[in-house]
Amino acid sequence: MELLYEGKAKKVYSTDNPDELMVEYKDDATAFNGVKRGTIVSKGIVNNKVSAHFFKLLEENGVATHFIRLLSGREMLVKRVEIVPVEVIVRNYSAGSIAKRLGLDEGIKFPFPVIEYSYKSDELGDPMINDDHIRALGLATDAEMAAIRGMALKVNEVLSNYLLHKDIILADFKLEFGRYHGEVILADEISPDTCRFWDKNTMEKLDKDRFRRDLGGVEEAYNEILKRLTGESVL
Ligand code: 5GP
Repeated sequence: MELLYEGKAKKVYSTDNPDELMVEYKDDATAFNGVKRGTIVSKGIVNNKVSAHFFKLLEENGVATHFIRLLSGREMLVKRVEIVPVEVIVRNYSAGSIAKRLGLDEGIKFPFPVIEYSYKSDELGDPMINDDHIRALGLATDAEMAAIRGMALKVNEVLSNYLLHKDIILADFKLEFGRYHGEVILADEISPDTCRFWDKNTMEKLDKDRFRRDLGGVEEAYNEILKRLTGESVL
């Protein structure tokens, strides 16, 4: 196996099969486009297992994903895709950058899921873009964006309902999609790194905001999400 790519939170390796890659989830944590750095003990295991759990649930509900199977605590086998350089953010509640940008308090429920797009570029800090930018720059076709939007809303519906049964509010999340043999499928990860999870009863944050905002209890929050979803514990 050859290391093809190392990102902030994951390493990607080739496999014997040209259509398949291995993803290894790391404990390294970054925030604010790499300005804040640290380690979240066992984060890689939590994010691998939580992502696998969500990908399976989504496949059962008709959403095509890159997930094939878990290989170990930190590793999963995935379909090799060409990543669409558009990050898709779905917001059910105000938080984070939208609260800052629009001067909103956090925790306001939107009347419908608000979708935003960012251009996937570390150098530029993932700037927000719209459908016209995506079309003008040729980042994705109109047909691909229609599929992506529909899948993002379906992911939101499936995960929001599922998580509410675990007493978790899905405030917002970020998705990435990839092209696989002419089809767009869900790729990357779905984890406490890429979602805002709030405890339904206490509104306690159970996600990367604990790291971003120095709230403490970071490992415990990641572990709590894994425990509520799979019953497992890494602490
Ligand atoms: P915000 O735009 O408020 O910073 O993020 C909205 C949601 O998308 C949050 O759940 C956040 O975790 C996720 N998100 C947006 N951009 C990124 C990114 O570049 N990396 C990660 N890990 N998550 C992101």
